[in-house]
Amino acid sequence: MMEEKNHIMSDAHVDIKVRDFARQVVEEFGEERMYACFECGQCAACCPVHRVNAEFSPRKIIHMVLLGMMDEVLDSRVIWLCSTCYTCQETCPQGIKVTDLIIAIRNMAYERGSFPDGIKMQADLISAEGRLYSLDEFDQKKRQKANLPPVLSRVEEAVKLLEDRK
Ligand code: SF4
Ligand code: SF4
Repeated sequence: MMEEKNHIMSDAHVDIKVRDFARQVVEEFGEERMYACFECGQCAACCPVHRVNAEFSPRKIIHMVLLGMMDEVLDSRVIWLCSTCYTCQETCPQGIKVTDLIIAIRNMAYERGSFPDGIKMQADLISAEGRLYSLDEFDQKKRQKANLPPVLSRVEEAVKLLEDRK
């Protein structure tokens, strides 16, 4: 009888890949619940982004993490499509904090320098002004007309917070 050839990676190889990336994500994420995912697909079914773009699927992202597909996940532009609406997190039957998990993955991607240009621009704006949209005199006048109090154009606390994290 011919010896059956094994064309897939050995268990040991898979185990190292899975353990390393999944463990890193769990460390960043702060809990191990991700391992309880049984791929029911509820998170994708309720996701408003998935509804308009089938390429984006929280279930698929978690599955790829569990398979140890680090480069494919962290270098993917798809992870930045999540609108952080938290619908998936509130409905996951396993209680997995899906949105927080995606945010943790984004943080890892940002740290390795893999992010869309728009994200860098937003990060720079928040670091410089403490807010995403700078407010000028025109905005303040509009608020005044609407009987709204003036707001700070620069939010020092947020700028300081980001400085402390550098
Ligand atoms: S809803 Fe929860 S258990 Fe189901 S696939 Fe998504 S993360 Fe996994
Ligand atoms: S938080 Fe992100 S992944 Fe979850 S349902 Fe909303 S858009 Fe989809």
